[in-house]
Amino acid sequence: MDILTLLRQHAGDYRCPVCRRPLADCRMRQLTHRGSQYTIEVTCRKCTMAFVVALEVQGGEGADSAVTASDTGELPPISADDLLEVHRALVGYHGPLTALLEPPGEREP
Ligand SMILES: [Zn+2]
Repeated sequence: MDILTLLRQHAGDYRCPVCRRPLADCRMRQLTHRGSQYTIEVTCRKCTMAFVVALEVQGGEGADSAVTASDTGELPPISADDLLEVHRALVGYHGPLTALLEPPGEREP
C-alpha cells in the first residue's frame, strides 16, 4: 500500500497542532524514502501550517503494516509541543522544507 494512502486512513485521528482541527483532509507530500523510513510534509488545510513527520514502517508493505512516528528506539515520540517549536522556528522561513533536510554541502547556492 502506498505510504500516503496508509497515512490518509489515519490522518483523521490527529489534530493540527496549531488550530486543533482534525487532519483528515490535510495535504500530504512525500519528501524522502529510504528503506522503511519516510519523511512526509503535512499541511493543514485550515491554517496552512506545514510540518514534517518522520515515519518508519514495520512489517513490510501491506494493510497490516504498523506505522510509528520516530519509532527508532532512541528518540521519544514527536509531541504537539515539538511541532509547535518547529513551527515557531520556521515562522520567518520561506524556502522549501526539503532544503532543510539536505545535509550541508549538498545545498544549491
Ligand atoms: Zn491547522
